[in-house]
Amino acid sequence: MYDIIIIGGGPAGLTAGLYAARSKKKTLIIEKGIEGGQIAETTQVENYPGIDSIDGVELGKRMADQAKKFGAEIIMDQVEDMELDGEVKKIKGYVDSYEAKAVIIATGASPREIGAPGEKEYKGRGVSYCSTCDAAFYEDETVYVVGGGDSAVQEALFITNFAKKVYIIHRRDELRASKVLQEQAFNNDKIDFIWNTTVKEIKGDKIVDEMILHDTKTGEDRSIKSDEPFGIFVFIGYIPSTEMFEGKVELTEDKYIKTDDEMRTNVPGVFAAGDIRKKTVRQVVNAAGDGAVAAMNAQKYIDEVEGNLYEGFKEN
Ligand code: NAP
Repeated sequence: MYDIIIIGGGPAGLTAGLYAARSKKKTLIIEKGIEGGQIAETTQVENYPGIDSIDGVELGKRMADQAKKFGAEIIMDQVEDMELDGEVKKIKGYVDSYEAKAVIIATGASPREIGAPGEKEYKGRGVSYCSTCDAAFYEDETVYVVGGGDSAVQEALFITNFAKKVYIIHRRDELRASKVLQEQAFNNDKIDFIWNTTVKEIKGDKIVDEMILHDTKTGEDRSIKSDEPFGIFVFIGYIPSTEMFEGKVELTEDKYIKTDDEMRTNVPGVFAAGDIRKKTVRQVVNAAGDGAVAAMNAQKYIDEVEGNLYEGFKEN
């Protein structure tokens, strides 16, 4: 049996793993995809303190290596079910089953889809949610980026390294992105904006060749059709990966996990960290912070249950 099982290997999960393993708790991190989670899909991270600029995949790898250095095990498995009540937490994966005294949920969030007809059908055939993965396919071509937040603007800037032209399609006439990113985009000759517009439909044959845009002000639709291939990159926020936790821990109305400041959920011995939590700021740095807090409180919980809590820690 493990002391602490962490579900999810993004910045929150990997930091929790580092803290848990470094305090000599037998630690397992279960990750279904790539170490680093969402940051592995981010081109460049420039706001992680102490690191000037780093590729997202590299940052994820470094975090994973650091957790492993202190003894955390990281395995690839897809968690399918779990029993979280009781002192022994049981996690059932696709590959194996696992038990622990405490669990930290750090499954993050996944890209929100537009919901337009054709979007699912053309995913990977013109529609993308990851510029690191797909921007290179659009060398000297035209790309449409949907969204107005930090992700959309940052990824649009990255895509200009490949595409000849990048249009940012935003449903309002003002960006939500930070001023620094906005300035970079406004000053980039390759970027133009299509304001007050949403994507109504995506069409094509084998790959995307047409998109119907809807003007949110006038209500008019227009078609963008091209013989040349073009890409549609969607960055309109994220939805929490909490489906499998419904009925197991308390969720908010919008399906995030409810925690207190100590990352405790409503179930004793079950903690949550990172983008999966209800909170307002979702950055790598506070995901990592959540992970540290969750791991320290998971240790405290185990020590309390086992009756060997260090006196000084009791009053918190
Ligand atoms: P976000 O801040 O929630 O922005 C989502 C954008 O998509 C908004 O502009 C929103 O429009 C638009 N949108 C939402 N639903 C839509 C729909 N159905 N159709 C069309 N447009 C839609 O999400 P994000 O940009 O992914 O950022 C998430 C978090 O990560 C934020 O806290 C952000 O600061 C952080 N982040 C930071 C960095 C960085 O600092 N370098 C980089 C990436 C992400 P409205 O504006 O009209 O609501």
